[in-house]
Order: sequence, then structure tokens, then C-alpha cells
Amino acid sequence: MRKIFLVILFAILILIGFTAYKTISAPNKQSKIEATTLPALPDSALTHFQQSISYQTVSFGDAKKWDSIPFINFRKFLETTYPLVHQKLEREIVSNYSYLYKWKGTNNSLKPYILMAHQDVVPIEESTRNQWHFEPFSGTIKDGYICGRGTTDDKINLISILESAEKLLKENFQPERTIYFVFGHDEEIGGKNGAKKIASLLESRNIKADLIMDEGGFVTKEKVPGITKPVALIGTAEKGYLSLEFSVNKKGGHSSMPENETAIDILLKAMVKLRANPFEAKFAESTKNFFEFLGPEMKFPNNMAFANPAIFKSIIVNNYAKTGSGNAMIRTTFVPTIINAGIKDNVVPTLATAIVNFRLLPGDSSEIIKEKVKKIINDERVIIKDFNREFSPEATPTASTETAAFKTLDTIIKKSYKGVLTTPFLMIGGTDSKHFYGVSANIFKFSPMQDPIGFHTIDEQVSIESYQHSIWFFEQLMRSCK
Ligand SMILES: [Zn+2]
Repeated sequence: MRKIFLVILFAILILIGFTAYKTISAPNKQSKIEATTLPALPDSALTHFQQSISYQTVSFGDAKKWDSIPFINFRKFLETTYPLVHQKLEREIVSNYSYLYKWKGTNNSLKPYILMAHQDVVPIEESTRNQWHFEPFSGTIKDGYICGRGTTDDKINLISILESAEKLLKENFQPERTIYFVFGHDEEIGGKNGAKKIASLLESRNIKADLIMDEGGFVTKEKVPGITKPVALIGTAEKGYLSLEFSVNKKGGHSSMPENETAIDILLKAMVKLRANPFEAKFAESTKNFFEFLGPEMKFPNNMAFANPAIFKSIIVNNYAKTGSGNAMIRTTFVPTIINAGIKDNVVPTLATAIVNFRLLPGDSSEIIKEKVKKIINDERVIIKDFNREFSPEATPTASTETAAFKTLDTIIKKSYKGVLTTPFLMIGGTDSKHFYGVSANIFKFSPMQDPIGFHTIDEQVSIESYQHSIWFFEQLMRSCK
């Protein structure tokens, strides 16, 4: 008895020793870089940002609602507001409304940088219009914030890039490295005609970029529990997207004499079964990197858990699974989004259908997931088909943090935001940059703003200070191309 007790005690001590050693010896991934002095924000820059919001460059789910006029007017606005950019850079128009700018560098041996942003915004949900505290397309300034649809997603990046470029051109700045700007017009509906076509164009010209930056994570003081310093979240991979249609066909009839099981019953049982079987939790490469970058910055016991994620997996997973956004970081998620059956209250329908939307972790391909779903439901009466397949990208590869590109980005973020920590993370949402993996492996998804509000929802706004930092970030990034 005593012997067994001693063996167990010894094993526990070894485990404690091992985890403690891993915690203490975890290398600090935070580079020590001093912030630079943030320049004042010119009034004109603020006005330009406000004006940009007034163009209702909306992408609708329903293509019939799309209006080209705001896009044409927005182009004219960009041309008149940023004259030097339009004089000195080449601009190509792709699919009529997407733009590829080229700022030619002096040194051909350096691979270009590509800075991306999208012009389009999501619509205002009519039913929520009266809940907005300002006119959605006004660009109003309120309590230090610039307000309106598109401020955070994604005109802040587009306007900041152009403000920085215009300023540098005024100084006759000439980059050694070529810099491209890619401004798509249909990101919110998948980027098929904009970013995707521009990516193919660059590929056809054999252009390989050293760094691509698109919207994504941001600087946050609120979103990383256990850390009090601001954290810059840099997306190094993006989850995939898959929608499946489930349909059941079964003879209907009069509702006065129903069969024991109807098409609706079979479909609902399948949905309940699916929901009761979430996919296994896994730490993607980006998430492991997140633990490595932030673990050493945390206090006990969080630092120990992050230094030993394999040992503390269940604790970490339980914590993350508490919220929808946390859960999305650690597993392929799914949720029914459309359900359809029936035409009249006294008719048992013959057909019942449901659409389920899946967000795929890197490593979970749509084929793997479809197989798993079939196994879970295990009912041949439920027919499973792809829904909207052409808008279903797989998860992206993961950008390495060991590259010069990541180090440059890391440095410029730290120069732009005083006292900020940086970390890679897995992007849950999609961006236009998913189309660019044929152009570069170094794709980073980061918007240099702090804690934006109302992303895709009511009262969208971003602080003026964020905008100031954002311009400063892009200016320093462009200057680094010297
Ligand atoms: Zn966006």
C-alpha cells in the first residue's frame, strides 16, 4: 500500500516538476521595441475618413439590390482626395470596381509588399435602423469616435493606407521595395470578382510577395482575459467555410391523420443528433502560437496551462467552450441557419430542408467533415448535399512567425502602439486575403486599430485615436520598404 502511495506521489512530483520547468523555461516571444512618437492627426485626414463613410458602398446578399453608383462615386472621391497617389502610382481596374495600385520600388531584387482593404460594407438591417444612435452613413463624430457603417470594416484601413501614401508622396518618398494596394469591392460576399481576380492576375504575372497584410485582428484591451496590457492580435490563419443542405422527402398528406413519422420529424431528429455531437476540440497551429506568445505574460496558473497545453487541454478547452467566440477558436463549429418545410397548417409537407453552416478548423477539410456528419446522422433518409459550394473556401495555411515578414510587422506594431504585446491567432471570420496564398505564404490579418465597436452590427464606430495610430502604422510600414 505504502509502496503504491510512494510511486503515485513520485509520479505527481515529476509531473509538477515537469510542468513547472516548462512554465519557467518558456521562451519570451515578445520583442523589446520602443514605441515612436505618434504624430498629430491632420484635420484633413479626419474629414477624409468622415467623407468616405457617406458613400454607401454596400454589398448585399441579394445581388439584385446591388448599386454601382456609390462605388463609382467612391472612386471619384478617392481620385480627388488622393491626387498624388493617382498621379504617381499605376492603377488597374479589375471587374469594373476593384483596384490594384502599384507603387514601383527602385530595387527589383526585393519582393513586394501587398496592403489590402475592401471598399464594400455590409447593409444596415432595416429592422435595426431606429436603434442606431446616429445616421449610419454620416461619418458623425461623437465622444472621440468616428461613427458609421464601414468605419471599422474596412474603410479605416483603406483610408489610412491612402493617407499615409499621399503624405509620403508629398515628401517625394520613394520605396525600394514595390508596394501594391488591393482594394476589392465584394469582400462581404466572398471577394469572387474583386480580390480573387486580382490574386489570379498577380499569379499570372508570377509575382511573389514577401508580405501581405489584410484586415483581421486588432489591438485589444478587453478581449484577452488574464492580460492587462493591450494585445495586438495578428491573424496567421483563417477558418474554412462550408454550408450543407439536409433534405428529407417523405409522402405527406392530410394533417388529420398523420403517420408516426413525417419529413419534418426525421429532419429535426437529424438536427438534434448533429447538435448533440460537437466536433473534437483541437489547438490549431495559430492557437498554439497564441499560447506561446502570451503564456509567459500571464500570471499563475494561466501561464502554466499555456506552457503545457497538452497536459491542461481539458481545462483550457472547458474555459474556451464557455463562449461562442472562444469555442470557435478550438473546434470546427456548425449551426443550422435556414430551415424550411410546409405550406399550410393542415398539410403534412413532403419535403423538409435545413441548411447548416460549418466553420472549419485548419486540418478539418470539407470532405472530412462531410464524412463525419454522415456518420453522426446515420440515417439514409436524410440527403446531404453541398450548398453554395463556390463560396466555400477551405481553411487557409498558417503563416510562420519565424519569417522576416512577421518580424517586420511585429516591430511596426510595437512602434505604433506603446506597451503593446503581439500575438498570432486564428481568425474565425473570412477576409479577401484567403485568395492570395498563391502569391505569398506570409499573409497576416491585422487592422491597426484598437477595440472597434459594432462590427457588422448597429452603432459601428472606431476611436479617432485608433485612426491616428492606424495611419501612423501604415506610414511606418511603407517607410520600412526603403
Ligand atoms: Zn471586412
